[in-house]
Amino acid sequence: MARRLRLFIAVDVPGETVVLARRLIERLRKTGIEARWADPARLHLTLWFLGNVAAEEMPAICRAMDRAGAATLPIDLEIVGAGAFPDAANPRTLWLGVRGGAEGLVALHEALAGELNPLGYPAEDRRYRPHITLGRVRHGDPEATQRLAAELAALAELPVGAAGVDSFTLYASLPGRDGPQYEVIHASDLTCKATRTHA
Ligand code: ATP
Ligand code: MG
Repeated sequence: MARRLRLFIAVDVPGETVVLARRLIERLRKTGIEARWADPARLHLTLWFLGNVAAEEMPAICRAMDRAGAATLPIDLEIVGAGAFPDAANPRTLWLGVRGGAEGLVALHEALAGELNPLGYPAEDRRYRPHITLGRVRHGDPEATQRLAAELAALAELPVGAAGVDSFTLYASLPGRDGPQYEVIHASDLTCKATRTHA
């Protein structure tokens, strides 16, 4: 059987975000909410989840990424605040938000869609909303959920790091004893030059 790998495309987060996320996770944990928390060292901003892909398809994916990167401007990423999907009253996914650079990430996602859809990788049904997953809630009693909602409201405008992004990465998610390990398969640069339109 052909070797298959669990692949996703992501942007790395600012170093400052990794440091601050450790503290934020501790703070959110204290609300009593039960969640599977992310390892701060492996935080990332997912652009595209490819799922299980045959190894021989990887070169075509790498070329698709390179073309999408060549058509996309570098991004000034600014991470601000924490929140929950679908909302704070029904927290399932806990995340850090993207303030600056969200349009750039959406543009990169669209460029990837243009390159990956023809290769047979459809986008998810739901709209792409850039975020950094901090944890996935397993269980929250009503009191813990209320405390969590209050914490998220208090954190809504907290700056959690900023950095220029000029590349993005194809990762393989490999099963490990302490959760998955992410292995770099390929990186593509964002090399589109800004074009000024003259009136
Ligand atoms: P774990 O599953 O052990 O919590 P993880 O979610 O970090 O760890 P993976 O499940 O391999 O590891 O996922 C890798 C990345 O792809 C993560 O950013 C995850 O959110 C994203 N991802 C996983 N499954 C899907 C999916 N079905 N749709 C969209 N994104 C997904
Ligand atoms: Mg997962």
